[in-house]
Amino acid sequence: MLKAVVFDLDDTLIDWSGVNDDWERRQARQLEGVIALIRERHALEDAQAYVEAFRSRSRRAWEMAREDLRAPNMARDLVQAALALGVPEHVLDERLCMEAYRWGTVEGCGPFPEVIEMLQHLRDQGLKLGLITNAYQPMWARDIELEAYGLLPFFEECRFSAADVGYLKPHPSIFKVALECLGTAPEETVFVGDDIEADIGGAKAAGLYAVLRTSYRRPQVLNGDIQPDSIIHSLLELPEVLDKAFPGWSR
Ligand SMILES: [Mg+2]
Repeated sequence: MLKAVVFDLDDTLIDWSGVNDDWERRQARQLEGVIALIRERHALEDAQAYVEAFRSRSRRAWEMAREDLRAPNMARDLVQAALALGVPEHVLDERLCMEAYRWGTVEGCGPFPEVIEMLQHLRDQGLKLGLITNAYQPMWARDIELEAYGLLPFFEECRFSAADVGYLKPHPSIFKVALECLGTAPEETVFVGDDIEADIGGAKAAGLYAVLRTSYRRPQVLNGDIQPDSIIHSLLELPEVLDKAFPGWSR
């Protein structure tokens, strides 16, 4: 019996296709906030050196993650970059640095138009909802967007960022954390995501029914080893998929 649906966040619930700013410039502005925080507490002459130190850490963390799926963590890298420049450990902490980074909504990004209606529908049918994202940021930072987009009430209880869990999808541990939180078995749970490897590969390996939501971002290779159980182009198609895979799922 179907009891829960777990979603990926980026390009599954929220649509980044309309964002066309220069992300490096946006990031440089955000890092200015962190630099200002550090300077309140310790002398830091070369602001550009901090930007470079953060970026090289970030790049390395994502490169290494390809090998072992250990999740990069922005808050940790913000602190580590400062330590590398001789800022003493006791003047910084991850939460403060992340707050100073001022992560938030980005112009051109927002929920897909059908998302709120569909989440409400699934919940009205008695399903539990969960969310797992391969985000670089801790979940509390991504909550800023969830709240702004009206999505937070649907995921009050179960939402996890890889940065907090320590592993990226497709690693089984992040799926396990979500299932434990929901209190459902894999065969009672559907996963919806837009990334064939991370989302579909991970969900299937964890025993969930895996629905691929097509994304503008990744032309999906569907002749590979990983095959989704179903493909949808909008969440509006989800109830029909559930009707076939879990007959009698709705009230
Ligand atoms: Mg995604």
